[in-house]
Amino acid sequence: MRAVLLAHPAGHSLSPVLHDAAFAACGMDARYEAWDVPPERLADAVARLRSDGAVLGANVSVPHKRAVIDLLDELRPAAAAIGAVNVLVRDGTLWIGDNSDAEGFLRSVREAGAPVPGGAALLIGAGGAARAVGFALLEEGAASLQIVNRTAEAAERLAHDLASRFPDAEVAAVPAPGLRSAADGADLIVNATSVGMARHGVDPDASPLPAEVLDGLGTVRERWAVDLVYRPRRTRYLRDAAAAGFATVDGLGMLLHQGAVAFEAWTGRPAPLEAMRAALTSALPDPSDARP
Ligand code: NAP
Repeated sequence: MRAVLLAHPAGHSLSPVLHDAAFAACGMDARYEAWDVPPERLADAVARLRSDGAVLGANVSVPHKRAVIDLLDELRPAAAAIGAVNVLVRDGTLWIGDNSDAEGFLRSVREAGAPVPGGAALLIGAGGAARAVGFALLEEGAASLQIVNRTAEAAERLAHDLASRFPDAEVAAVPAPGLRSAADGADLIVNATSVGMARHGVDPDASPLPAEVLDGLGTVRERWAVDLVYRPRRTRYLRDAAAAGFATVDGLGMLLHQGAVAFEAWTGRPAPLEAMRAALTSALPDPSDARP
C-alpha cells in the first residue's frame, strides 16, 4: 500500500518522514511517495491515483491545493469553506477532498495548553494557511478575529469571506497603523505568513511583527504567540514574543497534527503520534527538545 504527495516541487516535504514513521510504528506494509507533479500533469496524476488500488490516500501541496478541487468527486465541509484541499481520501470509487490544516492547528495549540478559541485573536497573513486558521478559530466560536497582511486587499478579502460565513463574530482587516492596538487587544497572535521560514535567498531572521509591537504585552495578562513556520522552530517572532512575556507554540505541532488527521482518514486507525513526533523532531531539531 502507499500514500502519495502531489506537489511541485516535492523534494523538500517532511511528509515522507512523518508518514513512513507512522506506517512503521503501526506495522503496516505501506510507504509514502512524493510525486513531483507540474500543473499541466495534475489531472493525469489524479487519474493515476484513481486507477491504482494500492493507494490509501494522498496529500496535496503547493501549487495544487485549489486546482485539484475540480478533479474530485466531493469536498468535506472544511475544505469547501477554506477553498483549499490538502488531503485526498478514497471512499470506494469516490475521491474526496479534505483540509487537515484547520484541525491540525487546533490540536496543536490545545496540546500546548492554549485556551483556544479564547477571546480575541490577531491573525498575520491572508494566504491558504491563514484561511485555514481563521476558519478554525471562528468555527470553534472565537468572538473576535483581526487580520493583518502585507497586501492589505488580501486581508480585506479574507475578512470579508470569514465575516460572511460567521456573521455573529467580529472579523476585520487591520491596516498597518492599527497593528499595536490590535496586538494589545489580542489574547492569541498567529503568524500564518511565510516570514521567518528558512529558504534560499530569504532572511530567516525576519519577523512578521516588529518587536516593539509585542513589547511588554505578555506581562499584562496571559497571551499566546503561535508560529506556523517550522524551519527554524525558534523563529525571530517566537523569540521576540517569549521576551515580551508570551507563551509560545512553534510550527512543528501543526505539521504533526495535520499529518495525524490525514493518517486517520486514510487508515481508519489512531495515528501513532509519538512515533510521528519523534521523526519530525529529529528532522527539525530545536534546543528546547533537550529540556526535561
Ligand atoms: P501562501 O498562501 O503563499 O501565503 C503566504 C502569506 O505570507 C501571505 O499572507 C503573504 O502576504 C505572506 N508573505 C509572504 N512573504 C512575505 C513578506 N516578505 N512579508 C510579509 N508577508 C509575506 O502560503 P501558505 O500556504 O499560507 O503558508 C504560509 C506559511 O505557513 C508557510 O511558511 C508554510 O510553510 C506555513 N505552513 C505551516 C503549516 C504547518 O503545519 N506548520 C501548515 C501550512 C502552512 P501577501 O498576501 O502580501 O503575499
